[in-house]
Amino acid sequence: MKFNTKVIHGGQEHDKAYGAVMPPIYQTTTYAQTTPGRHKGYEYSRTHNPTRNALENAFASIENGKFGLAFGSGLAAIDAVIKLLKPGDEVVSTNDLYGGSFRLFTKIYQDFGIKFHFIGMQNASNIEAYVNKNTKLIWVETPTNPMMNIIDIKAVSSIAKNNNILLAVDNTFATPYLQQPLNLGADIVMHSATKYLGGHSDVVMGALTVNDKDLADKLYFIQNASGAICGPQDSFLVLRGIKTLHVRMQRHCENGTAVAEFLANHPKIENVYWPGFKSHPNHEIAKSQMSDFGGMISFTTKGNNYEDAIKIVEKLNVFTLAESLGGVESLAGHPASMTHGSIPKEEREKTGVVDSLIRLSVGIEDIDDLIADLEQALN
Ligand SMILES: *Cc1c(COP(=O)(O)O)cnc(C)c1O
Repeated sequence: MKFNTKVIHGGQEHDKAYGAVMPPIYQTTTYAQTTPGRHKGYEYSRTHNPTRNALENAFASIENGKFGLAFGSGLAAIDAVIKLLKPGDEVVSTNDLYGGSFRLFTKIYQDFGIKFHFIGMQNASNIEAYVNKNTKLIWVETPTNPMMNIIDIKAVSSIAKNNNILLAVDNTFATPYLQQPLNLGADIVMHSATKYLGGHSDVVMGALTVNDKDLADKLYFIQNASGAICGPQDSFLVLRGIKTLHVRMQRHCENGTAVAEFLANHPKIENVYWPGFKSHPNHEIAKSQMSDFGGMISFTTKGNNYEDAIKIVEKLNVFTLAESLGGVESLAGHPASMTHGSIPKEEREKTGVVDSLIRLSVGIEDIDDLIADLEQALN
C-alpha cells in the first residue's frame, strides 16, 4: 500500500457490529466477561480500547512500523521512552530540541539518576565522543525546533547500531509524509500527534511506533503500568486527522516554500531557517531523507531586537500568535518568550534562539493572504 492510501486505510477494518466505516467511539471503561477471564479481547480501557487500537494501528501503518502506541500527549510518549532506562544510564540528545522535552529530561529524569548530554548533531560523528558503556539512548529531533537543523538519521543510526544503543526520533515536524525514520534505521519514532497528525489544533496526543516486538512489549507494559493513555474521543479525532495528512502536508509544503522565499527576499529579514534552501548547511541531507521541506520556518530580523519581534507577532492578523504548530491555520510564535522560555537565555542563545527569532507554522490558507499578512506586519 502506498502512503496516500495508508493514511486512509492502513491498519483499519470496518466495524464488526454494523459495518460502520469509521471506528465507533467506544466510550467505555470496562467490558463484559462471560466467565472470569473470558472476553472478546478487551478487559479495561487503560489496557486496551478498540478506538485507541484502531488509531495505534494507523500510527504503525503510516510510519511503516509494526507496533503503534498512543499516549495522552507527546510528552507522555517521550516519558514512556525514558522509562525504559535505569539510574546510571546515559542519553545523548540533540541540543536544539523542543523545550518541553528538555524540561522533562533535566527537571525530572536527571533527578532519577539518568544523565543527559545535549550536543549539536548536525555532524553525526560528534555523537561518538559522548558514547560510553552506560549510553542507552540517542534522542534525535529533525528538523529541530525551532532552528530547523537537519540531522542525518542514517548516520546516527549506524553509530547507535555499532554501540548497541536505541535510537529514538521525534518526527513531529516532518511527519511520515516527509520522512520515515524507521526506514532510515531508527528504533523508535515519536510524535506529538497534537501537531500535524491531529492537524486541526483540537486535541493533545502522543504516539510511538516501533518494529521490534520486545521493545513494543516493554513500551506497552509501561503504557499500561504508568497509565498515560488517551481517551477514545481523542483517538477518533486524531484518526480522522490522519486521513487527510497527505493533502494537508502537500499544501503546507507549497505554502511553506512560498513564505520562505518571500522572507528570504525581504530587506528587513536577517536569516531564514528552512531546510529547502540550497544555502541551508544540511540541505543535501534534508533532500536525501525528506521528500519535501514542510511548512515550519524560523527567521530573525535585522538588528536582532526583542521589541521588533514582539511588534511583528502582534501585528499579524491571518497568522495567530500562539504556541503549537501543525494545524490547518497559520500560527506565529516567539520562541524566546514562549516555547523556549523554560530554557535559560545563555543556553538557548548558544543554539540560535535569539531575541528576534520568530517561528512560523505555515497553514493551508490561500498563499496570497499569508504573504500580504507578513508584508504588512514587517512594514
Ligand atoms: C509539541 C511537541 C512535543 C510535545 O508534545 P505535546 O503533545 O505538547 O506533549 C514534543 N516534540 C515536539 C517537536 C513538539 O513540537
